[in-house]
Amino acid sequence: MSCCDAGAMSVQDALTTMLAQITPVSAHITVPLTTAQGHILAENVLSPLNMPPFDNSAMDGYAFRFADWRDGIVMPVAGTALAGQPFSGEIPVGACLRIMTGAQVPAGLDTVIMQEHTAQTSEGVLFTQQPKAKANIRYLGEEIRIGDVVLTAGTRLHARALPLLATLGLPEVKVHRRLKVAIFSTGDELKLPGTPLHEGEIYDSNRYGIEAMLNRMGIECLNFGIIPDDPAQLRDTFIQAAQTADAIITSGGVSVGEADYTKDLLLELGEVGFWSVAMKPGKPFAFGKIRDKHFFGLPGNPVSAFVTFYQLVQPALRKLAGEISVAPLRIPAIAEHNFRSAKNRVDFQRGYMSVNTEGQITVRSTGAQGSGMFTSLCAANCFVIVENDVPVGTSVTVELFNEIVN
Ligand code: AMP
Ligand code: MG
Repeated sequence: MSCCDAGAMSVQDALTTMLAQITPVSAHITVPLTTAQGHILAENVLSPLNMPPFDNSAMDGYAFRFADWRDGIVMPVAGTALAGQPFSGEIPVGACLRIMTGAQVPAGLDTVIMQEHTAQTSEGVLFTQQPKAKANIRYLGEEIRIGDVVLTAGTRLHARALPLLATLGLPEVKVHRRLKVAIFSTGDELKLPGTPLHEGEIYDSNRYGIEAMLNRMGIECLNFGIIPDDPAQLRDTFIQAAQTADAIITSGGVSVGEADYTKDLLLELGEVGFWSVAMKPGKPFAFGKIRDKHFFGLPGNPVSAFVTFYQLVQPALRKLAGEISVAPLRIPAIAEHNFRSAKNRVDFQRGYMSVNTEGQITVRSTGAQGSGMFTSLCAANCFVIVENDVPVGTSVTVELFNEIVN
């Protein structure tokens, strides 16, 4: 690790440096599908079934042999097949089978006509529209074959993946064990909401956002509360946190005035990676180790803590948890007003994206952008990533907030 007191590291270099040093937790557990939401798959899932598992009807209607059909003929109905109740009798040449959606199509029949395209007569069924050969059948294995990889290791099990696993009849899955992350706020001025404030004090807000985001990431949060700016207490807390958690996140105490306690403790108990990232908000951001656990030191200013967590810590923890890393989706939007850039730093401004009457994506600022001003963050739905001044009406990059903050 190289230490970079002089000059801040670029956001991209900071991410690359962190990700290169993080190895996913290796322990795996098996969880039932019913509690698997949010867990990260530890291995590829291979399909034990063909999907569909048998030829079946996509419609309520009549199954028949296409070769038997002539315009104007009436087909007698030889029987009925329901979902879960296959028809096992014979179907004579020229006859058809009444069939419901999901019912097995017997071998030999190759086409289904939907009920709405038929008429009943006393002798059977007359087709009122010309059928198409092989229509309305969902064929065995047309989506998935036995042995196909349906989900890859590192996938987070969300509401789209869980039904797929259930479809394949899998009652449980092998996942990475949940991460445990310790968090605490540092600062003599910090008080718990619900307690009175004395002169010069403020309420601790940072832990509430960080814990909420950790929860949404499926991470167990070990919340150590507020620790005063006292080296002995900080030291004890760091040691305790390193004994119980996979990673440690603090806020405050990494800006120039206070950096020394944290930095000295890192030097004593672990190692210092980097200390400053060229982003706004959030230039002071520390990465290192306490014992063998990853340490992320967020700036104290609430918006800075939030934005650095989102942009830097989130991808790092996703990798530690075993998740495949996916770069955030960033797209161009039209600036509804001028955006001023920060000199030599990427500015992650808080904005609101919408679609105008011409169908174009536009973005506006949600208000004053001070690094302690949470109202504009709360009102935002995206980051406006400002690297250079952006004149009104021109294109700027935006990143819609993901599920961890919504
Ligand atoms: P620091 O990074 O410790 O120098 O703090 C920078 C600014 O953020 C100061 O105004 C602190 O009072 C404020 N701050 C630090 N920690 C928190 C916190 N947990 N909640 C709210 N504000 C904080
Ligand atoms: Mg402080």
